[in-house]
Amino acid sequence: MSTTTTKKLSSEELFKNIISHAKEYGYVFQSSEIYDGLSAVYDYGQQGVELKKNLRDYWWRAMVQLNENIVGIDTAIFMHPTIWKASGHVDAFNDPLVDNKDSKKRYRADVLIEDYLAKIEAKIEKEVSKSRERFGETFDEALFRSTNPRVLENQKKIDEINDRFKAALNANDLVDVKQIILDLEIVCPISGTRNWTDVRQFNLMFSTQVGSVSEEANTIYLRPETAQGIFVNFLNVQKTGRMKIPFGIAQTGKAFRNEIVARQFIFRMREFEQMEMQYFVKPGTEMEWYHLWKEKRLNWHHSLGFGTDKYRFHDHLKLAHYANAAADIEFEFPFGFKELEGIHSRTDFDLSSHEKFSGKKLQYFDSEENKNYVPYVVETSVGLDRLFLSVLSQAYAEEILEDGSTRVVMRIPAFLAPYKVAVLPLMRKDGLPEKGREIMDILKLEHLCIYEEKDAIGKRYRRMDAIGVPYCITIDHQSLEDNTVTLRDRDTMEQERVNIDQLEKIIDDKVSLKKQLKKLM
Ligand code: ATP
Repeated sequence: MSTTTTKKLSSEELFKNIISHAKEYGYVFQSSEIYDGLSAVYDYGQQGVELKKNLRDYWWRAMVQLNENIVGIDTAIFMHPTIWKASGHVDAFNDPLVDNKDSKKRYRADVLIEDYLAKIEAKIEKEVSKSRERFGETFDEALFRSTNPRVLENQKKIDEINDRFKAALNANDLVDVKQIILDLEIVCPISGTRNWTDVRQFNLMFSTQVGSVSEEANTIYLRPETAQGIFVNFLNVQKTGRMKIPFGIAQTGKAFRNEIVARQFIFRMREFEQMEMQYFVKPGTEMEWYHLWKEKRLNWHHSLGFGTDKYRFHDHLKLAHYANAAADIEFEFPFGFKELEGIHSRTDFDLSSHEKFSGKKLQYFDSEENKNYVPYVVETSVGLDRLFLSVLSQAYAEEILEDGSTRVVMRIPAFLAPYKVAVLPLMRKDGLPEKGREIMDILKLEHLCIYEEKDAIGKRYRRMDAIGVPYCITIDHQSLEDNTVTLRDRDTMEQERVNIDQLEKIIDDKVSLKKQLKKLM
């Protein structure tokens, strides 16, 4: 067993290296790069498209295939504009924005205030960890948090700011939101000044026109979430599929938001992909389902094998207009714990609202209860691009090998890896390439494989490690004599000699999605 160590990088360094690696190896490109790019829009390259497809497929199968009462649909991006009135997006899908007059940079007012609060929070955590170190085993953290004067003072500050900010937002008092920023003496990170414009509300939906004649043209929106396509098709699916409550409808697809601050690579994009599932339940039972789906979704993330400590729940205290309970699953990205997925108990808000705006009934006849009702909805909503980023951040490693050399490896779980196998004839002669092609023909029926005969074998292994190919098959002269090849494991770098006749079965087993899905049952 070789001993390797993972290079310790600062989180900024790690994130920077992941972004450039993603570009160098065909995972993610800046959109419109030759025109200097388009902010917060990205393209997926030849590796990226496969990883994204595999992630989507894993989610889809976990939802639709493993649950008999969940079905999938694919609705249009364009929808009737009144849908966005009914959903609340026209009136309430806003972020408060503020500009710094010196740097000309634009910020979300809520993010400036949250960042300020996070700094106070960090002071508390520092205080706690200092005392934990000092008192060791005897340290009573709960007691410390509830009695230490400095912690209490800082917590009071946080609560007061939070209360004032929430009150200002609820009353749509943007003058006070600005005053909070001024009172807290928040400065622009770029210019360092407090020269702020007034705070304004900014709707995040993109709009465009349908209709060829301008007088007839109607403003429509690019959907900011996929959920509404599910709500407006609720009865179509329920009736044609004879669905009995509880049941779910799943959908994956593009969503668009004109994000004010779009930073952090594919974490916050203006065009992104969501994977959502709306679960329709009997009113009054929603909390049961909400807790169940929280657990199920967390388990799904844990099943990727990146370590349970990388995920945590963040329960929302302030709820959106449609929800009676909500939580995020947060993931520890290189820039800290951030939302990866939302689980929301949306009550009957959406269906009732569509009933009102469309004038059509959206109710379910419960034969057991012998009555009609508008179902309640529990939804799970995950961003595919954020999920992709979580995989990249966990998979990417720079290692120092036993001999002092370094390698960059993408430890993407085999069932998700874009290419599963690289077929590498040791030399470009003596019938080795022909043998390689035979192996390719067997394996490519089931798996995406790379064939590569250029460069020294060591160099080819490094390239496959960097791409994240989990298995390399090397054909040498012995292969021609005894029909065996070496099979190299990306993560351990160990090699074993296996019979070519066994290859198909071995690889099928190692990259099996079926085995992965079993973990969820
Ligand atoms: P945030 O608070 O980060 O803006 P949100 O709470 O508005 O996110 P939801 O509306 O709950 O997000 O959307 C569900 C999921 O869609 C999020 O958990 C996230 O993974 C993804 N998502 C939302 N906005 C974006 C975006 N601009 N870029 C990429 N993914 C996004």
